[in-house]
Amino acid sequence: QELIRKLEKTIENIPDFPIPGIQFKDISPIFLDSKLYEEVIADLAAASRGKVDAVCGIESRGYLFGIAIAVALEVPFILIRKAGKLPPPVISEKYDLEYGSAVIETREGQIKAGQKVLIHDDLLATGGTTEAAARLVEKQGATVAQFSFLIALTGLKGEEKLKKFNAEVYHILE
Ligand code: IMP
Repeated sequence: QELIRKLEKTIENIPDFPIPGIQFKDISPIFLDSKLYEEVIADLAAASRGKVDAVCGIESRGYLFGIAIAVALEVPFILIRKAGKLPPPVISEKYDLEYGSAVIETREGQIKAGQKVLIHDDLLATGGTTEAAARLVEKQGATVAQFSFLIALTGLKGEEKLKKFNAEVYHILE
């Protein structure tokens, strides 16, 4: 609809960044237009309203929309960060990358057992990061009720990786 059309005009597609063969989607022009940003938040918040009681954002672009979604829904926002950024005590989850592995963390106690959590990030590609975030949430006795993304790239099988969590996957753009 109208919002999709505006976003498609605003988001820049940069070929061969950060490496040859990858087309990078730069969402930063959205933040030059506060009205458009508000419309994005209204859309993402509406998609999650009444379905979740906490929002987890994935470092770092997941924070740009995630906090505003949580404020709109009047629920807590929890930062999921790369290892070593948050002070102890933390809960950690390791995941595999193309080469090697990475660890993500939350502060211990910020996610509560029994909570229905929204995991939000700007973009879903292979789903590796989001899948690890979901495991990190479940490890703390909470449930992933929904995933949301500004953009979900199709063809990289990201959504398939998330199926096992039995949560709704919402995105504005493909
Ligand atoms: P995944 O783990 O392969 O799904 O990668 C998703 C992560 O990579 C997200 O945190 C995104 O912010 C980032 N990412 C991957 N490709 C792009 C892109 O084209 N534009 C912006 N972020 C990207």
